[in-house]
Amino acid sequence: MEWCVSLPKVELHAHLNGSIRGSTLFELARVLGEKGVIVFSDVEHVILKNDRSLTEVFKLFDLIHILTTDHTTVKRITQEVIEDFASENVVYLELRTTPKRNDSIGMTKRSYMEAVMEGLRAVSTVDVAFAPHNVDAGSLRESLPINDACDGKRKKIYVRLLLSIDRRESTAAAMETVKLALEMRDLGVLGIDLSGNPVVGEWMTYLPALEFAREHGLYVTLHCGEVPNPKEIQAMLDFIPQRVGHACYFEEDDWKKLKHYNIPVEICLTSNIVTASVSSLDVHHFADLYNAKHPIVLCTDDAGVFSTSLSNEYKVAASAFGLGKREMFQLAKNAIEFIFADDGVKQDLRKIFDLATKKLD
Ligand code: 5GP
Repeated sequence: MEWCVSLPKVELHAHLNGSIRGSTLFELARVLGEKGVIVFSDVEHVILKNDRSLTEVFKLFDLIHILTTDHTTVKRITQEVIEDFASENVVYLELRTTPKRNDSIGMTKRSYMEAVMEGLRAVSTVDVAFAPHNVDAGSLRESLPINDACDGKRKKIYVRLLLSIDRRESTAAAMETVKLALEMRDLGVLGIDLSGNPVVGEWMTYLPALEFAREHGLYVTLHCGEVPNPKEIQAMLDFIPQRVGHACYFEEDDWKKLKHYNIPVEICLTSNIVTASVSSLDVHHFADLYNAKHPIVLCTDDAGVFSTSLSNEYKVAASAFGLGKREMFQLAKNAIEFIFADDGVKQDLRKIFDLATKKLD
């Protein structure tokens, strides 16, 4: 595990509120319990439960949103999540979150995202490179190697943001999120994710907003095939998103299309097993995609909710699929090619991996 922690890593599928520290979630629940907003004893077992079906996970998210959706807490969670990823040598993080509106506390989707940005700026344990237009690429390169604690330099993490459309949302609400993403491009927002309970909603509801996003140069990644829904899977693949997440319930035609379009897959092993989207690692599609050299990237999904970390996902993959250090290193490095950030960032990340090669042998 120590080796997996020291491996530089790229995280491309992490939901902000799902990555909340377990201790923070517990503390927030206790405080709201003391204030009488919730009954702590009712939610305690929901938080502590380990194995959850996909349906139960979405019930937990409803609870998490009650506990977290105010500006101060959103800022805190963002800061903690970035610090946690950086502490396990994640060198590039694409963090996704659903901008939320809560009229009762004057929260708009924009003010929610401003709280996220404040959280980014509040990170103190590492240097955060997040706003492309603010970053002086020259000075960043001078300070390489980043995340090299051994030579006394401070750690650095690249953070980029994806805004999620929740499947419960209307076309208009989805469009609002896309427009917000476009307005926040200078602050490191690169694209759009479609997520939320996969048994809710219709693909055609989000399609206009996703097409609008693409027309305006935003990247798109879709949660695809988390439940058996052959028509939707085909429609999503025909959209040719830049990446898909999960791909658990794919049939032969879906694999063919995915491979034909060479669409990278964000693989979340622990999440898939805990939610029983895949019955066991022995039959997980990682093996087939890996052997076929199809683009894949290991990700956490919801590190807090599934009690995992990206280092742990590498460890799980290593033991389940017999990967050695060299293979794990290459798998981590390959992820650079599927990030949504520009070539300058990709080049910097390649250097970080090249520098790490010798030390990790
Ligand atoms: P947030 O967007 O609030 O920062 O992160 C939590 C949200 O991400 C959840 O409410 C849900 O909409 C989405 N999410 C987290 N994990 C999953 C997952 O495994 N599948 C899907 N479809 N959505 C998820």
